[in-house]
Amino acid sequence: MNDIDHRVLGNKLDLFHQQEEGAGMVFWHPRGWALYRVLEDYIRARMRRAGFREIRTPQLLARSLWQKSGHWEKFGAAMYSLADAQEERALCLKPMSCPCHVQVFNHHVRSYRELPVRYSEFGACHRDEPSGSLEGLKRTRAFVQDDAHVFCADVHIEAEVARFCALLRGVYADLGFPSFKVALATRPVQRAGSDAVWDRAEAALAKAARAAGLEFDVRDGEGAFYGPKLEFHLTDNRARSWQCGTIQLDFVLPDRLDAEFVNERNERERPVMIHHAVLGSMERFIAMLLEHHEGWLPVWLAPDQVVIATISDANTAYAQEVMQALDDAGIRVILDNRPERLEKKIVDAREKQVPILVAVGSRDERDRTISIRLRDGQQSTLVLAEGVEYLRRAALPPVVC
Ligand code: ZN
Repeated sequence: MNDIDHRVLGNKLDLFHQQEEGAGMVFWHPRGWALYRVLEDYIRARMRRAGFREIRTPQLLARSLWQKSGHWEKFGAAMYSLADAQEERALCLKPMSCPCHVQVFNHHVRSYRELPVRYSEFGACHRDEPSGSLEGLKRTRAFVQDDAHVFCADVHIEAEVARFCALLRGVYADLGFPSFKVALATRPVQRAGSDAVWDRAEAALAKAARAAGLEFDVRDGEGAFYGPKLEFHLTDNRARSWQCGTIQLDFVLPDRLDAEFVNERNERERPVMIHHAVLGSMERFIAMLLEHHEGWLPVWLAPDQVVIATISDANTAYAQEVMQALDDAGIRVILDNRPERLEKKIVDAREKQVPILVAVGSRDERDRTISIRLRDGQQSTLVLAEGVEYLRRAALPPVVC
């Protein structure tokens, strides 16, 4: 493993670990979980702004639901099953959340006036991946999808796809990935649905992608059996390609799970279901972020954003006051008041890849200032209130919740 491998960084930066008793699972440490939560909150804010409402659905469900949805037939080998002794039913841990979202949609009779209905979920999923394929956070057996589904009528498809493409573009830019490639995967040989439906779906995806200003390659025959999809492949700083976002039209699951709405003519009609994910898996995306940025995450994502380093023991009380002020401003801050030289503290902060260091010495205490050092070597001394405001702005995520 090289030193930009996310598993090496995860250990060096004390973010997470994995062990044999939980093969394919992740033990998140405080710093890693801080990163995870910031990313989650950011996506949550983005999804809300894009018109999605967050839901939470069960992880353990009767196998009969998975048989009805078709997942048992297709994914059964990768699903964890267990028996419910009391009810004598077979249960499965969900490998994805799609059928659960249909249950929420179906919970009451829907009118065409309600469409599109948009749900998002941080869906905790399990898949029994072969042990040889496990690779740190890149492939796990337990992972969280930033999952979302839209239930809509045909006429909404284009606008919904365009909305999602715009969302993706913004998120990827915020996360440090300005360039990505798009592929349109079209009808496979074995498929559900008529050619007329596929014609319409493929054309809608292509048109919406163009309207969003995206160029794409066509991958003939690579769509899912239930509908075509757009795949978003991010390019990292080593020119490696990672498939992350997907948007997929589905004409089959609403049928299998009896989703319907009442249309303008007072008839029952099947909605189209659009599946999408921006990051894909939270765990895998964090692996990619770590490797792409070589551990130097953008300030807003850094587990610890600021280290306060005292120059001598005598400055500890003032350093604690500064720390409280930064903490009150929502900045993730730690204090280094060890009896070490400032140079050593600067080296250690770099080793932990904390992007900002605030040095606090006797002169700062007397003048009620702080001395800020950025990663690129820039230094400035500001009075405390101004310094806090400067750091607060530097630490903010791109979308304010
Ligand atoms: Zn889905």
